[in-house]
Amino acid sequence: MDRLRKKDQKIVQFVKGVKVEKMKDRLVKNQVNLVDDLNNIYSVGKDRYGLSEGQCFFIDSEKKVLIESGNSLAFGKIVEDLSELGIKNLDYIMVTHIHMDHAGGAGYLLDRYPDTEIVVHESGSNHLVDPAKLKKSVKKVTGSAFKYFGDIKPIPEENIVPVSGGERFDLGRGYSIEVIYSPGHAPHHTCFLERKTGSLALGDVAGRYYPEKDALFPTTPPPNFDLQENLKTLSRLKDLDLDFLLYSHKRWSDQPNENLSRYEAELEEWVDEIKGISTACDDKEDVIERIIKKYEPKLKRLLDGDDEKVKHILRMNTKGVLLYLEKKPGQR
Ligand SMILES: [Zn+2]
Repeated sequence: MDRLRKKDQKIVQFVKGVKVEKMKDRLVKNQVNLVDDLNNIYSVGKDRYGLSEGQCFFIDSEKKVLIESGNSLAFGKIVEDLSELGIKNLDYIMVTHIHMDHAGGAGYLLDRYPDTEIVVHESGSNHLVDPAKLKKSVKKVTGSAFKYFGDIKPIPEENIVPVSGGERFDLGRGYSIEVIYSPGHAPHHTCFLERKTGSLALGDVAGRYYPEKDALFPTTPPPNFDLQENLKTLSRLKDLDLDFLLYSHKRWSDQPNENLSRYEAELEEWVDEIKGISTACDDKEDVIERIIKKYEPKLKRLLDGDDEKVKHILRMNTKGVLLYLEKKPGQR
């Protein structure tokens, strides 16, 4: 595809729009990036996603929508970015799942934007109302790396909008969000499809994406990663006629089906590799150490060389696969 020409066409449409001066002004003044050439979808809280590099997405439709809340450590940067865009209230915060880097900041943002409704999968919503168990589980999984996940505070039940997939939110100005149930990374995972721009906010269901290094990396943490569910989800996402993928970790892509297919292959390879090593050695720690040794150089390049984070990510994602293989020994 002639990407440049495609971009030029969008710019022409943009120039004909009535809000050109206002938008140009916004882009010059602030550090908040428009997502590629998608009008009115912004990347906010960029690279303040705690342990993991990543971002939230803000849709500047009639309803003001933040997709993902980041963790509590991202709060200041998100508020700063939204203020730069002139945003004083949010209508919705939609979290793809309740892992703390995606939903941990929601309670803090709610203090700042008290009329916001928090959209979350119904099977995860209780853990946001009473996050004690969730926090305990994240502490257990992350150990000394818990410091990267910040803290989490309860969200009043009346602010929660539980969803299960198939719901549609009309956002005004032609924008809308359709909730797509997407288990695999976690059973309470949903993606959000913005139809006007053909953009799908992926959460963690299709890995991490580093476009500048042209690389994907698996997201398979405990306690509920399930390869077969994840593959089924990826296959369904490819039928959605998408134009853009919005990755929470860490950027976006205008090659949706190519990236989803590539992740299917990489995910299978990752699980096969861990399975292969685990059948050859009894000790889980040995498996983890071997995976770290093999993948550390690659992930170091992607994360620009932070040793502690790299080791933690590899450890966590290997543990998730080992647990899956333990629970479903017949599966690959
Ligand atoms: Zn996650």
